[in-house]
Amino acid sequence: MRKCIKFEAYVPGKNIEEVKEAYGLEKVVKLASNENPYGASPKAIEVVRNFTELHRYPNPEYRELRRKLEEYTGWNAERIVIGAGIDGILETLFKILIDEGDEVVIPVPTFQYYGILARLHCAREVLVQRDENFQITERIFEFLNPRTKLVIIPFPNNPTGNTEDLRLVEEIAESTKGIVFIDEAYVEFADSRVDLDLDNIVIARTMSKAFGLANLRIGYARLPEWLVNYYRSASTPFPVSTLAEKTAIASLEDIEWMKDCVEKIKRERERLFKELKKLTIAYPSQANFIFFKSKEGLAEDMMRKGVIIRDCKSFGVSGYRVTVGKPEENEFFLEKLKEVL
Ligand code: PMP
Repeated sequence: MRKCIKFEAYVPGKNIEEVKEAYGLEKVVKLASNENPYGASPKAIEVVRNFTELHRYPNPEYRELRRKLEEYTGWNAERIVIGAGIDGILETLFKILIDEGDEVVIPVPTFQYYGILARLHCAREVLVQRDENFQITERIFEFLNPRTKLVIIPFPNNPTGNTEDLRLVEEIAESTKGIVFIDEAYVEFADSRVDLDLDNIVIARTMSKAFGLANLRIGYARLPEWLVNYYRSASTPFPVSTLAEKTAIASLEDIEWMKDCVEKIKRERERLFKELKKLTIAYPSQANFIFFKSKEGLAEDMMRKGVIIRDCKSFGVSGYRVTVGKPEENEFFLEKLKEVL
């Protein structure tokens, strides 16, 4: 093992089968991994059904997918890279950017994988506390210095669901020579997005959430032009399968499906938020999940009743995160929450 590595495994949400078996339940609803409850576009599923080229390696340029993503995002296809989810994109960036001792600035609480990667790459994790509403504040400037290699800004943040002041994001990018990594995994559910293009800004997105393709592992990012070739040289040669690429293309050609899912989820999010506020301390969300505070041990109690939600302890905050599901799933969640409380 490399001497400087500190290991700490990612804690995934529990799956339905595990919980059914553990508690002898017939009905289990999973609202723990921020998946799209409506699934992928039927046109995307059709591609999966008909795909037979399993014996061929993918074409690693992903030219057609990048062209479709250019249409969808307005970003130049030459600057778009494809990875195995945002997770895969982060891995490649850490691989090419981080020397031992480099500082990675992470506003917390947040998604654990950033810290895991920082430790695996022997970086110095610089954890900056968010304010009481989980916003990044001006305090972050105290932590930027010449050793800052990477600043992570999830937009919206997981697990708290908030976005950030766009002016602050711009000021952060202008105040550091490090790469500012904007993680827009949930941006399709948000009212704002980061529309900044500087030489040190990377914006990453995923098809795992709004597009319902979490299982296929498709992420993408817009890099500054100077970084693109370094990234391509360092990425695994075939990060995404042709099956995933073709499915992603079909999903982007059926954008109405995604938009319809997002509208339904946003409507339910507001309804769920209102109900949750009556029972817990709930925080407004710009994503497809809601963060709330309630009594100790709630996730375990809910699991016994057949609802999987996320205990956010592993994110470094006491509270829970519930993914917005279909109306009937949210009803089941609220019914069980009332029983538990
Ligand atoms: N970023 C954030 C903020 C996330 O919540 C997640 C998913 N849990 C990811 C990235 C990883 O997404 P992907 O499936 O694209 O790897």
